[in-house]
Amino acid sequence: MTSTEYRMCTRCIMDTSDPNITFDENGWCNHCRNYASLAEKHESERADRQKALYRLVEEMKVRGEGHEYDCILGVSGGSDSTYAAYVVHKLGLKPLAVHLDNGWNTELSENNVRELVGRLGFDLYTKEVDFDQFKDLQLAFLKASVPDAEIPTDHAIWALLYQVAKERNVPYVITGSNFATEGITPSAWTYGIMDWRYIERVHRLFGTGKLRDFPHLSFFTSHMVYPVIHRIQWIRILNYVTYDKASAMALMEKELGWRPYGGKHYESIYTRFIQGYVLPRKFNIDKRKSHASALIMAGQKSRGEALTELEQPPLSPMMLEEDMEEVLVKLGISSKEFEHIMAQPIKTHRDYPTARMLFYLRDILGRLGFGRLMRWIGVVPSECPR
Ligand SMILES: [Zn+2]
Repeated sequence: MTSTEYRMCTRCIMDTSDPNITFDENGWCNHCRNYASLAEKHESERADRQKALYRLVEEMKVRGEGHEYDCILGVSGGSDSTYAAYVVHKLGLKPLAVHLDNGWNTELSENNVRELVGRLGFDLYTKEVDFDQFKDLQLAFLKASVPDAEIPTDHAIWALLYQVAKERNVPYVITGSNFATEGITPSAWTYGIMDWRYIERVHRLFGTGKLRDFPHLSFFTSHMVYPVIHRIQWIRILNYVTYDKASAMALMEKELGWRPYGGKHYESIYTRFIQGYVLPRKFNIDKRKSHASALIMAGQKSRGEALTELEQPPLSPMMLEEDMEEVLVKLGISSKEFEHIMAQPIKTHRDYPTARMLFYLRDILGRLGFGRLMRWIGVVPSECPR
């Protein structure tokens, strides 16, 4: 088979739009095989994880006695973080909910956040990023012609949660990122959520001015300062409980006034535009494939249902037209400039300065058996909010 021949996995719906995909003799791809083996391990540790959760909650409560909050909770208005908030509430924790407003949130997602904190009685801290600066950074990523246009937001959320945890002296950060629905993420489709050097260099090359007060973390800060010196723990709480997306959504609509917004991470207009138009059109990346494949493997969606959904465009023509107009106006570029950006040859993070060697070295050390030592001193592969 030549590398250009199209092929789709016979178990999930990942295909050769991921250039690194491999298939076994059953026609199963590396992504779903990897998911299956991790899921098996996850299942075998279920009882231990439940005990670990109760220990952790107890620890948070004891540490939080006499304090206003016992944990920091990231909220976006999306389904995963909303359900994480529900679990936190049921466990009797007192979180400070933290939200990043990058200027692109939909009214629906803002409303979801308001309803959530109102109904659960949580305090909310919202960080508004300087929009002129932020749009300059977003435009820089579009001009860099890489498929990583969304990583500045993910990086900022990650950094913000750590920063708030340190400032408030609350060493537990809880997020809704999870294995069940996000366990398939092809590395060729996104790079750099944790790589500030990459983000900063792309901005230096294609942006204007300086990034001031933008939440960020260097490799050293994220791997040593926060986890080791300040002992801040990152907790993906949905990995400790059974997370069935459909029943969680029904429960949230009923109890938290939560309303769905029609696609994973579509709580942001910009994300919707990038995932619904820029990535499929320019980079041949349709993230619905990885999202649906994780749900297929979790037994929460049938392959047939996922394939039917895939027959529809990621964004309806009407929504695309509206989003395109809004995005171009907000970014301050004409449709001609945007077409020019879309027509540029595709590049990857390897065309730019990054800190990938440090991450590579970290992963190699982990594989060579230094994992326990690294976990003990805190240098663990840090978690990202998405
Ligand atoms: Zn597969």
